[in-house]
Amino acid sequence: MNRRGLMKTGVAFGAGIMIFRRAEAQAGTLNLYSARHYNTDEALYGNFSDLTGVKINRVDAEPDPLVQRLKTEGDKSPCDVLITTDAGRIERARQMDLLQPVTSEVLLKAVPAHLRDPDNSWFGFSKRARVIFYNKEMVTAADAPKNYEDLADPKWKGKLLIRPSGHIYNQSLVGSLLAADGADKTEAWCRGVAANLARPPRGGDTDQIKAAAAGEGVIAIANTYYYVNLLRSKKPADNEVASKVGVVFPNQSNRGAHVNISAGAVARHAPNKAAAVKFLEYLVSPQAQKYFAEGNSEYPVVAGVELSPQLKSLGSFKEDQLNARVFAQNNAEALKLMDKAGWK
Ligand code: FE
Repeated sequence: MNRRGLMKTGVAFGAGIMIFRRAEAQAGTLNLYSARHYNTDEALYGNFSDLTGVKINRVDAEPDPLVQRLKTEGDKSPCDVLITTDAGRIERARQMDLLQPVTSEVLLKAVPAHLRDPDNSWFGFSKRARVIFYNKEMVTAADAPKNYEDLADPKWKGKLLIRPSGHIYNQSLVGSLLAADGADKTEAWCRGVAANLARPPRGGDTDQIKAAAAGEGVIAIANTYYYVNLLRSKKPADNEVASKVGVVFPNQSNRGAHVNISAGAVARHAPNKAAAVKFLEYLVSPQAQKYFAEGNSEYPVVAGVELSPQLKSLGSFKEDQLNARVFAQNNAEALKLMDKAGWK
């Protein structure tokens, strides 16, 4: 949908949009450092400018260089808002004192408590679950692992596919296990996972799903949106891959599936702080939520926002309520345990 289409969607959510109508007269600029770049983002940003008169200057880059740039620029930085994926990365920026807390009733009300920083230095705007996929020809739904903890069971020896330990998604997942199971059990779990690998870890999440579909392993770990993107792909080969795997949302009978976020924050030295807060508040409006989440087939953080049919097809699930800052802060210890276990 183009910008006009988004405006139309906005009209349907009249209450959400009113806030911005009042601010229309105020012009200005907003400097956005973004580690996400999706097709729907143009409409997302264009709509904000239409509603508020605030022009968005965007710097797109990979997350780690973006945070590094912010640090190097120091108090001369033009950055108003930083957007990254994975709580681990935005929490790193907070620890480097590159962010500032925001006082906003709108954000507190819209973003569930476990998906935002306890001191309001960053907020989750979309979410993804890290889940289990299985080759449907090689294992039945009944026999597939139910919990993350099951992945270390020797019965999966030579059958498990997961990307390298150096990737932040795995560090955040293991960070959540550290919180749930403690250091000793998690260390043993890492050893079990490393011993069960079908091949030395390589590639991204999509590669793990593809390898499971091809029978190179049986069980793959990946974020939900990679699978949903395969379902939504225009390439029949991608749809074929998706059709060969089943999805398990782990730990449904206990704490729930590990959920991570795409997050946003106001930069420590933001020159346009008022516009920055307004932009974050805009991101939780229903029309922006739809575009922000859909750009990468993620789940909106605000309840009741319409999902794509493919995302909807995954059904609802119970999510781990552990605060994202906790598993983010466990990243370093998680990596140490994975290294020790020989998980490359
Ligand atoms: Fe990703």
